Amino acid sequence: ERLVGAAADGEDQAVEAALRPKDLDEFIGQEKVREQLDLVLRAARARGATADHVLLSGAPGLGKTTLSMIIAAEMGAPIRITSGPAIQHAGDLAAILSSLQEGEVLFLDEIHRMSRPAEEMLYMAMEDFRVDVVVGKGPGATAIPLELPPFTLVGATTRAGLLPPPLRDRFGFTAHMEFYEPAELERVIHRSASLLDVEIDADGAAEIAGRSRGTPRIANRLLRRVRDYAQVKADGVINREIAGAALKVYEVDTRGLDRLDRAVLEALLKLFGGGPVGLSTLAVAVGEERETVEEVAEPFLVREGLLARTPRGRVATPAAWTHLGLTPPRQGAG
Ligand code: ADP
Repeated sequence: ERLVGAAADGEDQAVEAALRPKDLDEFIGQEKVREQLDLVLRAARARGATADHVLLSGAPGLGKTTLSMIIAAEMGAPIRITSGPAIQHAGDLAAILSSLQEGEVLFLDEIHRMSRPAEEMLYMAMEDFRVDVVVGKGPGATAIPLELPPFTLVGATTRAGLLPPPLRDRFGFTAHMEFYEPAELERVIHRSASLLDVEIDADGAAEIAGRSRGTPRIANRLLRRVRDYAQVKADGVINREIAGAALKVYEVDTRGLDRLDRAVLEALLKLFGGGPVGLSTLAVAVGEERETVEEVAEPFLVREGLLARTPRGRVATPAAWTHLGLTPPRQGAG
């Protein structure tokens, strides 16, 4: 498990419930999404109707599950949580849909990973609140229509572009969640610290925020590791010095790069003069699988403007040299 990975690990799952904002006012950042969602929900409430289906797109750990729970809470409705990979057969989906209560929120995480037949069943369910349950096989098979109570589907996906257009079009409201600004993450950290009964000053929160990759889940996780360090090595109070020392132990640097990220950058700079170098060559140099370099390390390096993927290979940017404290070779030298 990576300390700066965005997917939830076991410990995250255990503590996140306690850290989740309960309503829109408590939800930090994402101003546009919050404002728009507030209107959608208020309007539905005023009409006494079930809210429109909502599609949330954005990277893991940005608050999609949290928002779906907030939608349910704001609508005074129960919520059912499932995910695309958990629904492999249309029958799985039919079972869930037919057991929903009126107005219930169905949160479908990783909706782009549902099977095709389930997806097609979902089209009709979203539009007409109806499913056809197929009974039997072959020529004798019959479709039995089943009425569903109105419900609100909240779909989550890493990228809305991954969804087939017919599915995308059936959402009344689509929200794109952005990575958080450091100042917003500082607020997340202060809020979580107070819920966890941890003392932290402004500089300490800023130090953790800067290393959290724009992601509240990572901010909360780093906060817990820094808290441990502060308890064992100091008086439990987190300031800039303690946060920096703790995250040094965990090898998370000032920009949130971990050991793997730095190994990739270092190889690129020191062994290949900043590139261009092919992905496979780079992977061999760091002793990792191609996929690990491409899918685990590179996305954040690219986002941070430290590495570029070009047709000729991977290239380091000037910022990469600066970040590792190295001097780029002079142009045209050698
Ligand atoms: P996702 O479903 O997008 O992977 P989650 O909703 O599970 O992300 O959020 C991960 C953690 O980050 C949760 O524990 C939640 O408390 C915290 N979090 C996410 N967004 C916010 C926010 N806007 N304000 C405060 N905490 C947040």
